[in-house]
Amino acid sequence: MPKLPPLPEDPLVGEVLEFVEHSHLARRYRELDARPEFPRAEFRAMGGAGLLGLRTSRDLGGRGLSLPRTGVLLFHLARAAGTTFAKLALQPEFCSVLADQGSADLIDAWFRPLLRGDRLVGNQITEPAAGSDASALEMRASRTGNHYVLDGEKTEAAFAEDADAAIVYARVAGPDARREITAFLVPQDLPGITRSRNSGDLGERWMGRGSVRYRGVELPVGSRIGEEGRGLEYVRPELTRERALLATIYLGVAWASWEETVGYVAERPAFHRTLSDHQAVAFPLVQDGARLQAAWLYAERVLTDLERGKADDAGAALSKWMATEVALETLDHAIQFHGGRGYSRDLPHEQRYRDVRSGKIAHGPSEIMLAVGARELWKKS
Ligand SMILES: Cc1cc2nc3c(=O)[nH]c(=O)nc-3n(C[C@H](O)[C@H](O)[C@H](O)COP(=O)(O)OP(=O)(O)OC[C@H]3O[C@@H](n4cnc5c(N)ncnc54)[C@H](O)[C@@H]3O)c2cc1C
Repeated sequence: MPKLPPLPEDPLVGEVLEFVEHSHLARRYRELDARPEFPRAEFRAMGGAGLLGLRTSRDLGGRGLSLPRTGVLLFHLARAAGTTFAKLALQPEFCSVLADQGSADLIDAWFRPLLRGDRLVGNQITEPAAGSDASALEMRASRTGNHYVLDGEKTEAAFAEDADAAIVYARVAGPDARREITAFLVPQDLPGITRSRNSGDLGERWMGRGSVRYRGVELPVGSRIGEEGRGLEYVRPELTRERALLATIYLGVAWASWEETVGYVAERPAFHRTLSDHQAVAFPLVQDGARLQAAWLYAERVLTDLERGKADDAGAALSKWMATEVALETLDHAIQFHGGRGYSRDLPHEQRYRDVRSGKIAHGPSEIMLAVGARELWKKS
């Protein structure tokens, strides 16, 4: 069997893989594609096993691991059981704004239970007319006494009907429209909220993406996260970290298919030889192996720089972009070289392909990742 890319040894890898095995996560990954639902039991079990909040500080109830160590564990989790549980492991990271800027009351009520897997907190930024350009969002939060009143619509959100609460970004009118966007923690059972699910996604169907409408939803002032007008500023470092970590998940998933394909083509007879004896099959797989390793080394370098405090938005964006490209190409080859069965649901490659495909859109489309890179390359002082 081919060697893994040069991942650092980590004693926690064994613990993660044992959990995957014991909880049958690889089988569950496949089932959730055929019968999509939010895997609440597994989410709770992950919380109980300390697999939610790998990077979250210990005083908040997390493991307090460094970004590179978190990346190694996510790679292994994704390699063993697809994107689902690796992404769930990152859900507290996707809610860092709450951990970093929320009041002690909000953290106790929502962030700590999220780490335990008791409550699911989602994120709602995207709107019908504002996605890649989050600064264009229109949802309003009007202050009246000790309350804000929310009006607007969020779309494309994961866990649209399953989240117990969501971090919602809305505009509080002020003198400077660029500094109006504010983050709120919104329990999703408040009067005035209507939720609906999209008709169905290409992949990652367990996420149950959909829309959430807010009509005159009253929120106490204490639901605001941090200060008015600083929502986008707060979310930026979170986005950078999550993009850098997502890269490791896409690489882990693709690595699994690559290993399986390398093994398969060495056995499969075709034209009196094995498939691996045909250069048209062998060369793409050799290239994929080298590219996966290169993308891993880049991801690791970016995570190490971020851990050391270097603000590397471009590195994180490009790492997600590169990992997604390399992973999709590898998964496409896995489907191709398994032939007819590769195209079928009998094998995991087509699901992995469909799941990783979201990486070109979610958490910032690939074009935006490249735009972040271009901004850095031609920086204006
Ligand atoms: C699996 C998944 C999970 C998601 N989860 C959430 C969630 O939990 N919460 C949430 O708020 N959102 C979520 N989203 C939504 C996601 O963040 C948005 O879809 C994304 O930001 C793009 O916004 P949009 O869909 O409005 O596309 P648009 O902004 O309309 O862009 C459409 C396409 O145009 C291209 N494009 C856009 N701008 C540029 C540009 N400047 N230069 C070149 N090309 C450009 C890109 O190809 C882009 O994909 C999720 C999406 C997916 C697929």
